Amino acid sequence: MTTEPLEARYALEVYPRRGINVVRGEGALVWDSAGNEYLDCAAGVGVANIGHSNPAVADAVAKQAKTLLTCPGIFHNDRRGELMQKLVNLAPQGLNRVFLCNSGTESVEAAIKLARASTGRSGLVTAMRGFHGRTLGALSATFKYRDAFEPLLPGNTFVPLNNIEKLDAAIGESTSAVILEVVQGEGGVRPAEAEYLAAARRLCTERGALLIIDEVQTGFCRTGRFFACEHFALHPDMMCLAKGIAGGVPMGAVLCADSVIARIGVHGSTFGGNPLACAAASAAVDFMCQEKLAERAAGLGAYFAERFSSALPESVRELRQLGLMIGIELRQKATPFLQALLEHRIIALPAGPTVIRLLPPLTIAQSDLDRVVSTLQKVL
Ligand SMILES: *Cc1c(COP(=O)(O)O)cnc(C)c1O
Repeated sequence: MTTEPLEARYALEVYPRRGINVVRGEGALVWDSAGNEYLDCAAGVGVANIGHSNPAVADAVAKQAKTLLTCPGIFHNDRRGELMQKLVNLAPQGLNRVFLCNSGTESVEAAIKLARASTGRSGLVTAMRGFHGRTLGALSATFKYRDAFEPLLPGNTFVPLNNIEKLDAAIGESTSAVILEVVQGEGGVRPAEAEYLAAARRLCTERGALLIIDEVQTGFCRTGRFFACEHFALHPDMMCLAKGIAGGVPMGAVLCADSVIARIGVHGSTFGGNPLACAAASAAVDFMCQEKLAERAAGLGAYFAERFSSALPESVRELRQLGLMIGIELRQKATPFLQALLEHRIIALPAGPTVIRLLPPLTIAQSDLDRVVSTLQKVL
């Protein structure tokens, strides 16, 4: 017998629901209220990189909850400083200042404001199919989901990804920043090319614009490097982070180079960098380093590609992937296949109408990944 979940009655319905009531998670598995077990290849939309309810994070949160839960930015705080140091040490060289917030879209909002404040310009160049969040500033830089909300920020130019000529033409005297994902997530798991990213870096420097790289989805070992920028030795002026940063606890961050000029009062956040989230993020980052999750994502990603490509189903047009950020482009709509996977107790995501996206926890067992491959081959 299934009872209607309470949320169905009270929540503002803004999400396309999948009809399961998730009540518990551990590692790469989640359970619904009826006791059914699912392999979570969504990882809560690219959040649970270190697995659900990671014990190291749970312990850090419990300990910090009893020590200090909130601390405004007008004070220094030990947990916050410790996390900032870790992020700066792991980030591409030159990103040596950190602003902490609470989500991906907030990190993009902060980056847009900081780009304006630093350059005195207001234009933004961003990629078609790019996704940067749903608040009005970040939405202005996002390709989809904007129809009901125009007019958004003026002065945004959308350019096709991996077209250097169009990028060159778009960056002008009013451009404050170019914002790009290294691999577009929501937009269909579409990787940027090395030459394109290098051109973006060069053109921004030449024309006095800042380069913002949105690693909200690609960060924290997802693509086989700690940050996806490392694949290309890319040095942005700002890097936006969130999703996997704190093992499931809400947090976002912007890492900034010296080209970012911030004055007191230019930005702020009540909850940003609160000690609870910082303790969680510190524990999550330590776990990623100790368990070498970047190497693990690279290895398992290559393993998946080899197994899946060895018998590519008829319905598959293309496999696009970097580490454990996996996009399977189909010749038809993805929704029925996502439903079929769910019936086999595998949770996957769409990324546009015809792409199945897999973002499994990076701790997923190889045998579980085998099950994903064999189920995909059966279902597709
Ligand atoms: C998810 C995502 C965001 C928005 O993050 P929220 O925490 O949902 O606001 C921004 N950029 C990218 C690349 C994302 O994948």
